Amino acid sequence: MTHVVVIGAGIIGLAAAHHLRREGFAVTLIDRDPEGDRASHGNAGVIAVTEIVPASGPGVAWRVPGWLLDPLGPLALRPAHAPRLIPWLIRFVRAGRPREVARIAAALAALNARTYDDLLPMLAASGLAGELRRTGSLTVYESEAGFARDRPEWDLRRHHGIAFEAMGGDEARALEPALGPRVVRAVFAPQSAHVGDPRRIVEGLRAALLREGAAMIAGEVAELGVQDARALRVGLTDGRRIVPDRVVVAAGAWSGLLARRLGDPVLLESERGYNTTFPDPGLALGREIVFAERKFVATPLACGLRVGGAAEFGGLGAPPDFRRARALATLARLYLPGLPEGGGTAWAGHRPATPDSLPVIGPSARDRRIVYAFGHGHLGLTQAATTGRLVADLLCERPAPIDLRPYAVERFR
Ligand SMILES: Cc1cc2nc3c(=O)[nH]c(=O)nc-3n(C[C@H](O)[C@H](O)[C@H](O)COP(=O)(O)OP(=O)(O)OC[C@H]3O[C@@H](n4cnc5c(N)ncnc54)[C@H](O)[C@@H]3O)c2cc1C
Repeated sequence: MTHVVVIGAGIIGLAAAHHLRREGFAVTLIDRDPEGDRASHGNAGVIAVTEIVPASGPGVAWRVPGWLLDPLGPLALRPAHAPRLIPWLIRFVRAGRPREVARIAAALAALNARTYDDLLPMLAASGLAGELRRTGSLTVYESEAGFARDRPEWDLRRHHGIAFEAMGGDEARALEPALGPRVVRAVFAPQSAHVGDPRRIVEGLRAALLREGAAMIAGEVAELGVQDARALRVGLTDGRRIVPDRVVVAAGAWSGLLARRLGDPVLLESERGYNTTFPDPGLALGREIVFAERKFVATPLACGLRVGGAAEFGGLGAPPDFRRARALATLARLYLPGLPEGGGTAWAGHRPATPDSLPVIGPSARDRRIVYAFGHGHLGLTQAATTGRLVADLLCERPAPIDLRPYAVERFR
């Protein structure tokens, strides 16, 4: 039986392992903290199939200084990390050219269009079918100008088959009575969904995999290389060595370290996000709310109302600054007047961010037996099942259902 080591037991590694087990591979997952608390555990829980517009876009570079100067703004940059970010930022600005935006949106739409085809069977097979809430999402605006500025993004979504319905503030409040008078415009997108709790998805997938015979090793991968023509080599920091036939690198924001060690120069940054979960919020929402101008969201999860977002570029080693989580909760009260002043649990996680908002899915340029599955940025939960399926297609040497070239690691050369 072909033995595959999957490095990383976040949502992407687990989804890859799920699909590989179904194809009959022997699977070993390696994670330095298998039950830890990474991006996959504490995210907003949204199946954001409507999010096909890249983070960069025409004019985004000009809005960045304003965001950085606003203490409640959506973007933060740790000065000590700024010099290391320059190559990533140059690529980010390039990704905002109109032709690039169109190309990237098509590639994100191709992945997201497959989401439910791949996600529903994976959840069902893992006993998690009841976790999905297909209630759509509501994007709200506090100004006509904000709504007008986003018009091209909604047109782009429509072009890619995403359904939505624009409405006024009163209609939005009829749908979500917890919204206050600040909301003047809204867009309902029925294809979005959310899960009961992303942590339960991770834990459920892991438990199902272990039941089905996958192995789990707690350890940190320090070395990844080629043993010989037949086998690869995975070395752990504690000296253990594994010699598998194939390797999947799904180590989230840490994947860049492993890929670069192999000789694949990827541009991958930690884009840290923050949120606060209110177990007893004193108000009810029926669906995810996206606060468009301020770029954060609120999701009604089984564990409480989760309010979060933010994008902080400070590297993997910087300690979290939970003032960002509190700032988002303060902002949320502007729109959701019933939200309590205090309380709630703050959390932070590292999104694995590429400058073009596209994940890396495909073989290493150095050795096709090593397959990359990382860099999903804001959409890792949404795209996990499809990524897992594509990884299985690659390792089965079967044609993929979509063109994989936009996600190839070679684009960073
Ligand atoms: C605030 C926030 C909100 C978000 N909201 C959403 C959302 O609503 N919808 C959505 O689709 N996405 C969302 N995301 C994005 C999503 O959470 C991520 O894209 C996704 O979790 C990435 O999963 P991953 O498995 O690649 O990485 P991770 O969850 O980070 O897992 C990587 C794993 O690799 C392990 N690892 C790393 N290096 C090594 C090593 N050398 N050896 C062994 N193990 C290693 C780590 O311990 C970790 O467990 C959000 C993210 C954040 C931060």
